[in-house]
Amino acid sequence: MFFLALVIVLVVGDAASTFLYHVPQHAWGRLHLRTHHDRSRSYWDHAVLSKDPEILLDGILGALPYLVIAAFLCPISGWAAAGAVFGLVLGQLHVWWRHTTDLGWRSPPWVVRLARLGSVVLPEDHDGHHRSPDIEFGDIFRFYDAPARAFLSYARSLQRRRRNAMRRLQRIKAVRVMRNAQRA
Ligand SMILES: [Zn+2]
Ligand SMILES: [Zn+2]
Repeated sequence: MFFLALVIVLVVGDAASTFLYHVPQHAWGRLHLRTHHDRSRSYWDHAVLSKDPEILLDGILGALPYLVIAAFLCPISGWAAAGAVFGLVLGQLHVWWRHTTDLGWRSPPWVVRLARLGSVVLPEDHDGHHRSPDIEFGDIFRFYDAPARAFLSYARSLQRRRRNAMRRLQRIKAVRVMRNAQRA
């Protein structure tokens, strides 16, 4: 039960955070792009040290899905609660670790092999997301990257279609106004 709760907090928490917060922010939001993808600052600084309210809010919203899932698991049993809390601790350690490329972290080959085995996001992978916000989704697990990208491109195509429809509507309205003016 301990191990199950731990895995659920990390795997389901990452899915919820990625698809309910991170990707929607990339598609429609501003907060995450303005804070987490602010290229003018070191991302060790804003992911770990910063007390800026906007940066903290982005962090809290990203962490919320993990916390909600842990809150559901805790009442099940003592072992489930311990596993959920340990999962949250590991998740937080991973946040710190994945932002350490800024401090010069380079994963040794055995860490890379181990991480690839579990599809775990390396600091080098997350660095890719900071360099190009369209790649390397998933906080902890890399298997969320492909579906996240597919979701993002679908959201963008919807946006494009809506924009085109609005433009067409505006053109029709303009033609109507012109015709009415000519008739008058
Ligand atoms: Zn980051
Ligand atoms: Zn992002």
